[in-house]
Amino acid sequence: MSAKNQPLGGNEMPRFGGPATMLRLPSADSAAGLDAGFIGVPLDIGTSNRAGARFGPRQIRAESALIRPYNLATGAAPFDALQVADLGDVPINTYSLEKSVAIIEAFYDRVLGTGCKPLTMGGDHTIALPILRALARRHGPLALVHVDAHADVNDDMFGERIAHGTPFRRAVEEGLLQGPRVFQIGLRATGYAADDFDWPRAQGFNLVLAHEIWYQSLAPLMARVRETIGDAPCYFSFDIDGIDPAFAGGTGTPEIGGLTVPQALEIVRGCRGLNLVGADLVEVAPPYDTSGNTALLGANLLYEMLCVLPGVPLR
Ligand code: MN
Ligand code: MN
Repeated sequence: MSAKNQPLGGNEMPRFGGPATMLRLPSADSAAGLDAGFIGVPLDIGTSNRAGARFGPRQIRAESALIRPYNLATGAAPFDALQVADLGDVPINTYSLEKSVAIIEAFYDRVLGTGCKPLTMGGDHTIALPILRALARRHGPLALVHVDAHADVNDDMFGERIAHGTPFRRAVEEGLLQGPRVFQIGLRATGYAADDFDWPRAQGFNLVLAHEIWYQSLAPLMARVRETIGDAPCYFSFDIDGIDPAFAGGTGTPEIGGLTVPQALEIVRGCRGLNLVGADLVEVAPPYDTSGNTALLGANLLYEMLCVLPGVPLR
């Protein structure tokens, strides 16, 4: 019998029963003693188009109920070595984006102070900025693997500096990122100007446009990512709209011609060996996810992120 928290088994309580915690893990009020903790951020007031990501954490938890402890593809056995729990949701102020960002940053400061690695369920992509602020305060400027249809480096949206399309612009300005160790994967679609991608390239970001990797295995790309990032503290941010809307249509700003599910798995699994200090899965919008498939995919990708955290053994 392991001393670590274990997901509640499907033979102990039917998978459709019991409280809907992430991966059916115990819930915890404090991150003290945890190696990793799942945190929901039910915020979508930074969204520019279809709202609904506020319901993401709840739906991802519900769809995570079928996930079992052992990763039969990679051999990863996260619960054999890491103490993991569900830390619940950040109590954001849904009337104020500015106040919510401050609440999120303070929440993550407390979590990081215990040594716990945060695995975040969004929420719209605005939440990456306060998380990066808290992480960089602790670790210094970060490497970043960012999967998304969009670069999220707008200078402003509707005149606002804080929104779901601006977090990585602000992060650069605030010195939170190591530009040459940033990879943005899956970018595509139409822009406001022909030179929209020039700014991130000027920061040293490595841009991988979706059409450049259509039909391809992404294992070679991830080898390049690992070589470039090395042992730098690294954050992993996965906007579900990086994946094609055929597979993940339950999101606010869908764009055609995106990544496939196997490519998404290759990206996450290819992060094994990086010095990951945290990860998120954002922009699942359940009102547009009529089958639950988008949240199901998000839940599984978060499990895969847990599986590539440093210290997870392979069996
Ligand atoms: Mn995004
Ligand atoms: Mn996006």
